Amino acid sequence: MRSKRLTDKLARDLKKGTTMNVHHKITNSAELPAEQDPRWQAVVRRDRTFDGQFFYSVKTTCVYCRPSCAARLANPKNVRFHLTQADARQAGFRPCKRCKPDLIAAAADSESASDGIRYAIGTCSLGAVLVAQSANGICAVLLGDDAKRIEKDFHKRFSKAIRDDRRLAKPLADLVEFVEQPSRGFDLRLDLQGTTFQQRVWKALAKIPTGKTASYAEIARRVGTPTAVRAVAQACAANAIAVAIPCHRVVRSDGTLSGYRWGVERKRALLARETLAA
Ligand SMILES: [Zn+2]
Repeated sequence: MRSKRLTDKLARDLKKGTTMNVHHKITNSAELPAEQDPRWQAVVRRDRTFDGQFFYSVKTTCVYCRPSCAARLANPKNVRFHLTQADARQAGFRPCKRCKPDLIAAAADSESASDGIRYAIGTCSLGAVLVAQSANGICAVLLGDDAKRIEKDFHKRFSKAIRDDRRLAKPLADLVEFVEQPSRGFDLRLDLQGTTFQQRVWKALAKIPTGKTASYAEIARRVGTPTAVRAVAQACAANAIAVAIPCHRVVRSDGTLSGYRWGVERKRALLARETLAA
């Protein structure tokens, strides 16, 4: 009971507190054995809401993890808590290969991020297309066979977005023209909503010139994490801004086409057009 209360209190402090405040609270409890530290309960529960708030290291394996790591629970005797990854590294620990704490970033709060988002649906030669815009720019472009279905998909992530075909007429027309004629370019501002790692990958994709492709391994090198090829592939798959963030320009190392969230035939069609346009 007592530790549950402590954990709830810690969660509240972490949520509302300023960084200074949090730091103060956590340093105070750093002297406790891990088992009595309220953060241990978050680790026991593999509580994802604490990911990025702190890290824990395990003396026997020399790695550090996010609180939600799915690996077998360590003996609390061997556990230490760290406020930052730099702190864990300085203490001599490596990032865990399973939970990849080095790829962590503040998770986008998609619920609040969907406030004020408007979208429109139209058609292009590749099928139905949905374009959405936040106060910061274009935040989603979805392609599909069926307008109803992509709209439903879109609402899973942006539950509060409002359809507004009139206000979005111009960005939708621009995007459709860009699909038909890639050489025109697409220069509307984009609002990349994702972790810092995903944003790094998406920015690297945006730098692949029209008519060219790159492999997942090349992108992993370009973002400075040459071994994170799978994480790069996942970030490509998580791209919500089809075409404008050209994840279709990423292919396997042998040049063959890998999957595409919006259908591999659309990927093939886009690449064929871009090769002609370049
Ligand atoms: Zn781990």
